Amino acid sequence: MALTDIDISVVIPLYNEEESLVKLYEWIDRVMTDNGFRYEVLFINDGSTDCSWQVIEQLHSTRPEIVHGICFRRNYGKSAALHYGFQRAQGQVVITMDADLQDSPDEIPELYRMITKDGYDVVSGWKKKRYDNRLTKNLPSLLFNATARRVTGIQLHDMNCGLKAYRQEVVKNIEVFSEMHRYIPFLAKNAGFTRIGEKVVQHRKREFGESKFGLNRFVNGYLDLLTLWFLNRFGKQPMHFFGLIGSLMFMLGFVAIIVVGGMKLYALQHGIHAMLVGTNPYFHLSILMMILGCMLFLAGFLGELVIRNSPNRNDYLVKEQI
Ligand code: UDP
Ligand code: MG
Repeated sequence: MALTDIDISVVIPLYNEEESLVKLYEWIDRVMTDNGFRYEVLFINDGSTDCSWQVIEQLHSTRPEIVHGICFRRNYGKSAALHYGFQRAQGQVVITMDADLQDSPDEIPELYRMITKDGYDVVSGWKKKRYDNRLTKNLPSLLFNATARRVTGIQLHDMNCGLKAYRQEVVKNIEVFSEMHRYIPFLAKNAGFTRIGEKVVQHRKREFGESKFGLNRFVNGYLDLLTLWFLNRFGKQPMHFFGLIGSLMFMLGFVAIIVVGGMKLYALQHGIHAMLVGTNPYFHLSILMMILGCMLFLAGFLGELVIRNSPNRNDYLVKEQI
């Protein structure tokens, strides 16, 4: 099939979801057929230990031109699965959804319309009414999203929603790594895709199996957010961060040590009793600050050296050309 032949690629990362897959595929197929979309489904089996892969093989054998599957050798995580799916997707619009039937394929036509007609680069689902555990998920998720909105500057209510739609150009130009699947809109924004929309989507109870992410998702999520913010702000110019606070610290320590020495000299000249400089705690604090300042400065320098050698030090995306 030629590139432009496919309207929609549905990318589905999955880890031990054998019970849901057939029902999910049939539902997607129904929606696509009703709306006359040419589509493909990419199942990325993220090292499942149940029979998910056999189910995918079965589906592929019945619809080989539509159902494609990739089987990772072990569990690499949702980000890796999405990354692989994004590389392989051929549709003009790429839709990601979870495999556990919590996301409804009925949302696909409207998501597709928002990308193709309204001109959005990314449309993120918003599970306004959630069917998850209230205490362990809904509440932390509210806090998490509030922080994410502040840090990323993207006004989404549900940044980590599995159901999202992208223009093909977006997924081909971002790299989802580590556990960054929670922040794909931020990755897109950093790559220059700023038309990011939101659509309220239906959410459903998990029918089979259980959630694959524990409470540590929030701890990791916050740390990853910090990393992304830092990378975006200073990733290409670490000296602007380390150099600045390093220099400030060094200067503070330097001034402090001059004050300590000056006070000692003054005391000596005027015959006032003063403690030995070596026993003065401020002396040690000043030295510590000067040393730390030098180290931070050096960290900035090393960072710059590392970046000089990074293959994507000069990455840019061209939007148009005349
Ligand atoms: N998933 C995955 N690899 C993992 C963990 C999860 O591919 O290591 C898939 C999982 O099978 C599901 C989706 O990611 O299709 C979302 O996972 P889950 O439903 O457990 O997350 P929740 O709905 O609890 O946020
Ligand atoms: Mg789920």
